[in-house]
Amino acid sequence: MSEFDFIRALVPTGVWIDGAAVAAQSGGTFTVSDPATGDVLTEVADAGREDALRALDSACRVQSDWAATAPRERAAILRRAWEILLDRTEEIALLMTLEMGKTIAESRGEVAYGGEFLRWFSEEAVRIGGRYTTAPAGTGRILVTQHPVGPVLAITPWNFPLAMGTRKIGPALAAGCTVIVKPAEDTPLTMLALAAIFAEAGLPEGVLSVLPGSDAAAITAPLLADPRLRKVTFTGSTRVGKLLLRQAADNVLRTSMELGGNAPFIVFEDADLDQALEGAMAAKMRNGGEACTSANRLYVHNSVREEFASRFAERLAALRVGPGYRPNVDLGPLINERQRTTVTELVDDAVAAGAVVRTGGKPIEGPGYFFQPTVLDNVPRTARMHREEIFGPVAAIYGFDTEADVVAAANDTEFGLAAYLFTKDLDRALRVSDALESGMVGINRGVISDPAAPFGGVKQSGLGSEGGSEGIHEYLDTKYVALTR
Ligand code: ADP
Repeated sequence: MSEFDFIRALVPTGVWIDGAAVAAQSGGTFTVSDPATGDVLTEVADAGREDALRALDSACRVQSDWAATAPRERAAILRRAWEILLDRTEEIALLMTLEMGKTIAESRGEVAYGGEFLRWFSEEAVRIGGRYTTAPAGTGRILVTQHPVGPVLAITPWNFPLAMGTRKIGPALAAGCTVIVKPAEDTPLTMLALAAIFAEAGLPEGVLSVLPGSDAAAITAPLLADPRLRKVTFTGSTRVGKLLLRQAADNVLRTSMELGGNAPFIVFEDADLDQALEGAMAAKMRNGGEACTSANRLYVHNSVREEFASRFAERLAALRVGPGYRPNVDLGPLINERQRTTVTELVDDAVAAGAVVRTGGKPIEGPGYFFQPTVLDNVPRTARMHREEIFGPVAAIYGFDTEADVVAAANDTEFGLAAYLFTKDLDRALRVSDALESGMVGINRGVISDPAAPFGGVKQSGLGSEGGSEGIHEYLDTKYVALTR
C-alpha cells in the first residue's frame, strides 16, 4: 500500500516510553488494519506487563518534577502540541480515517475537536484555584489547595482515536499528572502520532507513555495492581468499566468513567421538522453512528412520525458509502467484523419483532465492514435495540403520544449519557430536560460535545466529567490545611 507509506514517517510504531518508540519487551507485534478493505496498514509493538511496568517506573521518576513545573510552562507545552497537531491536520486526519474508517471530513473535524482539549486545558493549567478563609468559630483559618493526583492510566476506545485521548491527556498534563495511555487495539496509530507531537512540543521524557497492545488486560491489570498508580480514567463499554472499577477498588484509585449510552432523541409534535431532521442527521450519523452520544432511540410524536420517517429515510438513502479517504463519500465502514455482526443481529431482531425497514437494513458485501444506512420505523419497545447500544448507521424510530409516556420510556434504561429533544415550547423544553435522567441534554440540536462543557453521564453511563472547568478537577486532589493565628 505505497500510497499509505506516510504512516511510517508520521507514526512511531513502537511502545512509547521515555520520549522514544522501542520494541516491546516480548519482541512481539500486532497488526493494524484498514476497516474499509481489511488490508494490513502496519505492524505495531505489542506491549505487555513488562512494558507497562517500565512506563510506570518512568512516570513515577518524573512525577514530582512535572508537578513542580510551572503551570505556565505546562500550559505552553500543551499549546505547542495543539499548534503542531493543527499544522498536521491533513496527515493526522488521513491516519485516523485509515485506522478507524470515518470520512476524511469527520477526521478533520476530530482533529479540530480533539485538539481543542489541548488548547482549552492549556488555558486551565494556569487557573487551578484554592481558597483561604476564616473558620466560622473565628479561631483559625482554612487553607485549601489543589494538587496533582499522581500517575494516571488512561484507557481509550477506537471510535475517536484522537479526542478520547486528548480529553484525558489535556487535563492530566495541565494538572501536573504523568499519564500512561493504553489506546484501543484497533486504532493505536493516532495516539502514537500524538505522543511524537508532544515530544516535539517539548514535553519532558517519561511524562507521557503510550502502550499499544493486543491484550488490554495484560497491560492494565499490573498497573492497576501497583500502588504507585493513583488514577484510572476510562472511555469504553460499561462492561469493561465495571471490571476496571472492581480492580481500582483494591488500591482505592481515583476513577473517571465514560461508559455506554442509550440516547433518546425526542421529536415533539410542535418541533421544527427541518431542524429535527438536521439534528437527527448529526446525532445519529456523526461518526457513522459509532459514538456513545449517538441517538439510539428516536421517539417521534405519532402525528409527525410518518413525515419524519420518510424524509429521514430519503436523507439516509442518499448517503454515499465507501472508504472514508475516497472523495465524495459520506459514510465509511464499521470498525470491524464483530461490530458489523452486532449491528446486523440488532436489526434482524427488530425486524423480526415487527419494525418496518424504510431504507437499508443489510450489511454490504466486502471487502471492508460496511453496513447500509438504515431507517427502521415503528420499532417495538421490546426490541433489543431499545435497551442496547447499536453503534452503527441504524436509526430506530419509535412512536409516542404523550409527554409523560415518552419521558418514562426515555428514562427506562440503565444508561444516562446524552439526550436530545426538539420542541418550540420553551417551557416544555426545560421541563423535559429536567425530567430526563441524563448527564447531557441537547435542545433543538444534535451535537452537544464541546471541550468547554462538562461531558459525562449519570447512572451506568459513568462517573465524572471531561472538559469544561470541571474536567481538570478529575486530576486534582484537594488538600485542607488548618491554620491558627
Ligand atoms: P468497545 O466495546 O467499544 O470496543 P471496550 O470497552 O471493549 O469498548 O474497549 C475500550 C478500551 O478498553 C480499549 O482500549 C480496550 O482495549 C480496553 N479494554 C478492553 N477490555 C479490557 C480489560 N479487560 N481490561 C482493561 N482494558 C480493556
